Order: sequence, then structure tokens, then C-alpha cells
Amino acid sequence: MAVPQRRTSKTRKRMRRTHFKLEIPGMVKCESCGEHKLAHRVCGSCGTYKGKKIVQ
Ligand SMILES: [Zn+2]
Repeated sequence: MAVPQRRTSKTRKRMRRTHFKLEIPGMVKCESCGEHKLAHRVCGSCGTYKGKKIVQ
């Protein structure tokens, strides 16, 4: 079994984990209601896209 030659330091471990984000990529704030929504898709809570109401 391969064994790492050097133990990963606290700093290196933390630097790697800066990429582990809580937010899902592709999620943006809706410009009409301020809710989180998927980018390039109709907002799920207010039903608008590009300032126009799509879903009634
Ligand atoms: Zn919205």
C-alpha cells in the first residue's frame, strides 16, 4: 500500500478545504424576490425570468 511520504500540514489541509463551499455553484439570487434560484432558469418561488412573469 502506498504511504504518503510527508504528513499534510494543517495549513495545506485548510488551503485545500477552502474549495469545499457550502453554497451550490450555479445558484444565484433572484432579482425580483431575492430568493436563491438556479441560474438561467425561471425562479421557483415567484415564477419570473429576466424581469418578466412566466408562471402565473
Ligand atoms: Zn423570484
